[in-house]
Amino acid sequence: MALNRAPTRREMLAGLIQAPSVSSVSPEFDMSNRQAAERIAGWLDSLRFTVELQEIPGHTGKLNVIGTLGKGPGGLVLAGHMDTVPYDHDQWDSDPFTLTERDGHYYGLGISDMKGFIGLAMEAASRHTAKELKQPLIVLATADEESSMCGGRALAEAGKPKARYAVIGEPTSLKPVHMHKGILMESVKVIGHSGHSSDPALGRNALEGMFKAVDGLLKYRGELQHKHHDPHFKVPVPTLNLGHIKGGDNPNRICPDCELHFDIRILPGMTVESVRKEARERVTAALDGSGFGLEFRSLFRGSDPLMTPGTSELVKAAEALTGHKSEAVAFATEGPFLQALGMQTVILGPGDINVAHQPNESLPLANVEPTLHILEQFIQSFCIAPAP
Ligand SMILES: [Zn+2]
Repeated sequence: MALNRAPTRREMLAGLIQAPSVSSVSPEFDMSNRQAAERIAGWLDSLRFTVELQEIPGHTGKLNVIGTLGKGPGGLVLAGHMDTVPYDHDQWDSDPFTLTERDGHYYGLGISDMKGFIGLAMEAASRHTAKELKQPLIVLATADEESSMCGGRALAEAGKPKARYAVIGEPTSLKPVHMHKGILMESVKVIGHSGHSSDPALGRNALEGMFKAVDGLLKYRGELQHKHHDPHFKVPVPTLNLGHIKGGDNPNRICPDCELHFDIRILPGMTVESVRKEARERVTAALDGSGFGLEFRSLFRGSDPLMTPGTSELVKAAEALTGHKSEAVAFATEGPFLQALGMQTVILGPGDINVAHQPNESLPLANVEPTLHILEQFIQSFCIAPAP
C-alpha cells in the first residue's frame, strides 16, 4: 500500500523484518516472498519510483522488485536480496520477525543479510526526485539468492534492469569487494551389478568403479590447481571437495551402485559450464572400457565467479569513500547476473558476514549513517553528475 509521504527508516526496516521470506532448497522451509516484495513496491511507489513486480517464471510466489527513478542509458542499481535463510526460533533472544534495538545494534532475521541494506537504499533514494537525476537510480530487490538464485537468473534472462553500475549490499562491514569465487555442486553415480561376493565374475563392483572415478576427479583437481592461481584469495587456487558418498549394503554382496557428491569452487576467469563439462569428461575417461554405467546430475545450477577490474570507476569510488582497498571474498553473490547485464558491480554493505545465517543476526547502528553517506555519494557521482 502506497503512503502519501516518504516512509521512515523504522517503518521500512521493521516492515521488512516482519515480512517472512525464507528461501530454502528444502520445500518444508521455503516460503513466498510476496509480502516483502509488495511492501518494497509500495514504499518505492510513494517515493515516485516506477515499479515493476516481476513474477519469476517457474517459481510460484517468488517475485523481484525493480524500482526506477529517472531515465537514461547509464545509472546506478542498488541491489539486495529479500530472502533470508531458515532460522532457529528458540535460539533467538528476541523475536526474529520484530526489529529490536539494543546494545547499539538492530536485531532481526535478515537485518544484516540483507534487508537492512534494502531499507537504507530506499532511504537514500527518498532524498531525490526524478528531476534532479541525469541518469536513473534503480532499487532492485531479488528473490531466492540464498537458495536457487532464480531471482538473479530471471533478471539476466529478461535483460533487465539496464544500468552502468551496481552496488550489491551484501554484508561486508562497509569494505568494498570486487571479486569472489564461483561454485558448482555435482553428483556422479557409478552403476554396476550386484552378485555374491564369493565370485567377482557374478557382478560389477560400483565401489571399485567409484575408486577410479575419484582418482580421475583428484587428478583433475591437481591440474586445475596447477593451472589457476589468484593471490587475491585467501585460498588462491580452485578447490574440489568430496563431500558425500553412498553405496552398497553388505560385505558379502557386490556393490551395485555408488553415488558421490562434490563441489568445485572456481576462480574468476573460469566458468561453471566449462568446469562441469570437463569434470564429467574426466570421470567418463577414468571409467572408459570398464563396463560401468554413469549418471551425472547437478545439485544446483551453479554460480559463476565475479571479477570487476580494480580500474573500474565504481571500484575506485568505493575505495575512496570507504578508505579500504577492494577485496576478494569466499561467498558467492548475484553479482555475475548483474555483470552479465553490463554493469560494473561492487559488493558493499553495512552488515557483518560473521553474524549472518545465525541466531541474533544484527546490524551495528554505527554503520547506518556511513552507509547513507556512501550511497549518497554514489548517487551524486553516477546519477546526478555522471561523468560523460
Ligand atoms: Zn546475502
